[in-house]
Amino acid sequence: MSNSPVRPVSIWDIGSWDLESDIVIAGFGIAGVSAAIGAAESGADVLVLERTGGGGGAAALSGGIVYLGGGTRLQKACGFDDTPENMKTFLAAALGPGVDEAKLDVYCEGSVDHFDWLESCGVPYKEGFWSQPGWECPEDDSLMYSGGENAAPFSSLVDPAPRGHLARVPMPRTGDQGAGHVLMTTLIAKAADLGVRVESDVRVQRLVVDDTGRVVGIVAQRFGDTLAVRARRGVVLATGSFAYNDEMMQAYAPRLYQRPAATVEEHDGRGILMAQALGARLAHMDACEVAFFCDPQLIARGVLVNGRGQRYVAEDTYPGRVGQLTLYQNDNQAFLVLDERAYEEGMEAPSSSPQLRHRPTWVCETVAELESEMGLPAGALTATVELYNEHAEQGTDPVLGKKPEWVRPIGSPIAAIDLRNMTGGFTLGGLQTSVHSEVLHVDGEPIRGLYAAGRCTSGLSAWGYCSGISLGDGSFFGRRAGIRAAAS
Ligand code: FAD
Repeated sequence: MSNSPVRPVSIWDIGSWDLESDIVIAGFGIAGVSAAIGAAESGADVLVLERTGGGGGAAALSGGIVYLGGGTRLQKACGFDDTPENMKTFLAAALGPGVDEAKLDVYCEGSVDHFDWLESCGVPYKEGFWSQPGWECPEDDSLMYSGGENAAPFSSLVDPAPRGHLARVPMPRTGDQGAGHVLMTTLIAKAADLGVRVESDVRVQRLVVDDTGRVVGIVAQRFGDTLAVRARRGVVLATGSFAYNDEMMQAYAPRLYQRPAATVEEHDGRGILMAQALGARLAHMDACEVAFFCDPQLIARGVLVNGRGQRYVAEDTYPGRVGQLTLYQNDNQAFLVLDERAYEEGMEAPSSSPQLRHRPTWVCETVAELESEMGLPAGALTATVELYNEHAEQGTDPVLGKKPEWVRPIGSPIAAIDLRNMTGGFTLGGLQTSVHSEVLHVDGEPIRGLYAAGRCTSGLSAWGYCSGISLGDGSFFGRRAGIRAAAS
């Protein structure tokens, strides 16, 4: 794949067009379907080229959390105040350093409208708030914290508000009826209603340019046949990340090399390479979402220590933040230490990820025995637990700021769960785009006729991450790509 030609094709080398449309979209995941709806609602004729046998992409398998705020109808209905300013302050801190301020501004200012648009497309929401720690919501509630807004260090920076918006799922929940599935089947049905055409099993390979350098089409493969597809107004790239491109992973995000998670194999970086071959600018190629493979209901009830037996994160925060800090700052070394009571409570708590509830690796009567069995430096874990317990007696955690509701002295018997190398994830860097989703050339100017959104672009996350940002910026800037391309 990586050796197949990627350089743009001149329009003069196209004998005849096999397919044609105003807007041609590569990829029918969240960014692609949002671009399709945006363009079709603007009156354009839209054709989607999708590599697999159907639409959905990673988005259809996802937890379906869309990060929105600023005072959405759902936030208000659940009794939460929020403003675009608070949302911006939080996201600039949580997604940085290096957040694209212009994109963040339009996203936060447009967030309420975007939620209304999703509802207008038919996405169902339940006016229910899920308050427990978790990767997703195990019930059919539609609002939850999904980025550590209500945990240290962010809770003291700005008033917390939950911004994880989930489509309401049918109960009882089944594996293939998650919020991502509901979101995508609803949006795909909306696109079909608007007359969007979809060609499946079509693998987009190269861009077609005219003499002025404008993108005017795509060359693709279907079962060994080459297709030339004309785009009268614009091409939108929405092909996903490069998490499954080994060469790119080694070059840009080596820490996550061979650790893909929450992604799909079709994310092979092709869209990025096609645009790069035309001079596109890249941004934040090292940024990654990092999942931590342990149930947050367990993590919140224990202390998480690194290979030196020292705590490094407030355990009640967003688990993706735990994943990033573990992988990038603690050599992927983590142990969860908790007593029997905390373990049993955690195991009984409602969870969307029961498969991430691990059995203890070591169980001992004392901390000294435990640290010896774990092979930690003598006295290191003992010192950590002593300090934690000293403050926990008062219900506080001045060291890392875990909320009082999760702070309790650790007693005996005491256990540790080995969580070394328990991380994986997907890439967040990609093509640099304007607020209108135009792909930017290395000279800073838009490449005419070329738009992009979703994980083939550098969206809102520059380093940090919150659940819902991928579906959030993918749908938001995907829609803008469709609208902008249709207007050109
Ligand atoms: P996708 O939605 O994957 O769409 C890309 C499409 O392009 C695919 O259909 C693919 O087949 C197609 N394609 C690829 N290459 C080509 C080609 N050459 N030609 C034609 N078509 C091509 N994110 C959140 O924000 N919230 C969550 O709750 C969340 N939970 C997740 C849980 C899981 C289990 C998984 C797997 C992911 C989760 N994510 C979540 C991540 C999120 O789903 C993705 O990051 C997001 O879907 C990316 O959007 P996209 O449009 O760029 O890619």
